[in-house]
Amino acid sequence: MTNQPIFYDTTLRDGNQALKRPWNHNEKEIIFRQLLALGIKVIEVGFPASGEMDFNTCSSLAQQAPQDVTVSVLARATKHDIEQAALAVQHASKPRIHTFIAMNPLGLEHVLQKDIETVTDIAVNAVRYAKSLLPANGEVEFSVEHFGDCRENLPAVLDAIEKVVEAGADVINLPNTVERFRPMDFIRMVEKVHERIGDKAQISVHCHNDLGMATATTVESFFAGATQLETTLNGIGERCGNTNMYEVAVALYNSDIHVPLRMNKFYETAQLVSQMANIPIWEKAPLMGSDSLAHRSGIHQNGANKTKGLKKGQYIAFSPDLIGRYDGEHIGFTGQSGKSALFDVFQKSGYPFTMEEAVKFLPAAKKLADEKGELTLSDLDRFYRTEVCHVTGPFELDSFERISQGKYALSFYKDGRFCEVIGRGSGPIESCVTALASLGVAIAIVKYEQQMLNDKEQESAEAVTMMNIRQNDKEVVARAINRSTTRSNIHAIFNGLNLLQK
Ligand SMILES: [Zn+2]
Repeated sequence: MTNQPIFYDTTLRDGNQALKRPWNHNEKEIIFRQLLALGIKVIEVGFPASGEMDFNTCSSLAQQAPQDVTVSVLARATKHDIEQAALAVQHASKPRIHTFIAMNPLGLEHVLQKDIETVTDIAVNAVRYAKSLLPANGEVEFSVEHFGDCRENLPAVLDAIEKVVEAGADVINLPNTVERFRPMDFIRMVEKVHERIGDKAQISVHCHNDLGMATATTVESFFAGATQLETTLNGIGERCGNTNMYEVAVALYNSDIHVPLRMNKFYETAQLVSQMANIPIWEKAPLMGSDSLAHRSGIHQNGANKTKGLKKGQYIAFSPDLIGRYDGEHIGFTGQSGKSALFDVFQKSGYPFTMEEAVKFLPAAKKLADEKGELTLSDLDRFYRTEVCHVTGPFELDSFERISQGKYALSFYKDGRFCEVIGRGSGPIESCVTALASLGVAIAIVKYEQQMLNDKEQESAEAVTMMNIRQNDKEVVARAINRSTTRSNIHAIFNGLNLLQK
């Protein structure tokens, strides 16, 4: 096998569209930068025709992409979608339009209500039109949506694919849009496409995980001739998700295939995506789950100990270092360290901290470490209090006192002006929010957590609050720390108000 797999990432499109709260522009940028750090060379950034916001994000990411990275955007096989797509990628060094139409019998009959010949014409015209709008190095990818369901009409679909390739498609993507059957059925169909078109176009697969076999199907499709593998970070995507990038990469690596990715960034990426998508990593999740390196039975512990440090462990499918998991090892934070080290030192020192915050506070932590060398526990403590848990801005809390059951007096400064108001609610948080609302400051608390710090020593125990606060379309994560649980909550609200102004 001489071919290398090309990882096509669709986290920002297929993954994002399935999130309960899709990412905003800034969040998409964080993920985009992480994809670049992983070494991904083909990135699907969105669906420009779906709305102005997505269009703007696609076009901004297209401009930010390095010269060797292909920026792909989705377009239905319609004139308008393709024109929007071409506009959105016009500033990319390597633009690609990804257009698609379904060819499965069910889709033809009930959804499109067209025969395969008509749909083939639509596909051919879409590919030609897309090609005509792109510069010479621009590429067109065509997806046979629901390819996995084209078992009964495969001969006609193969004819269609051949015509689409003749029309100029550079990549033929074969999605298992809904996973219903055996992986081998799909893989044989991929082989048939490969036999038919040879090297005239690149073959790609895009698998969904409805039956939990997307990784298997994707990995085996590579050996059947598909060189582009469409995956997402953490396997996020519609229903049970898309193929998980990390699993495919490690399976290929273990099969002696060169994987052109920085796999040692997988673990930090998985943490980042889990937090940003608000989708926890299941403890039994392959590679990333907290249990995936745990050995509990005596036989397994013995076997694991006797093969520790060898290239292959008796009871472990991968080396933790390979994917950047350094569980149990000392990690210090210096000016040379990255966000995963910052995440790790705070986590291990008992400070609640997320990977998203690690991204945000990395520059300040590096600056401090450049001045002081490796950060000590007291450096970390000071940093946490002054940088993470204290946000200055127009809002400054003066006092918050309970008057009676469900009634609180709040006073604060806004832009130096003193404000005083009474708020009612079932508890202090609600009372504070209603008090602010009565002055026209409308916010909603969409997520709330409180944890104790130093709780082993009663007298020095402190409460750390984390809140997601939303105002209009903007959402921020605010923290605060205080001996009093109530004051910690109210400070978090005021930190959030200041963050919302930034
Ligand atoms: Zn999909």
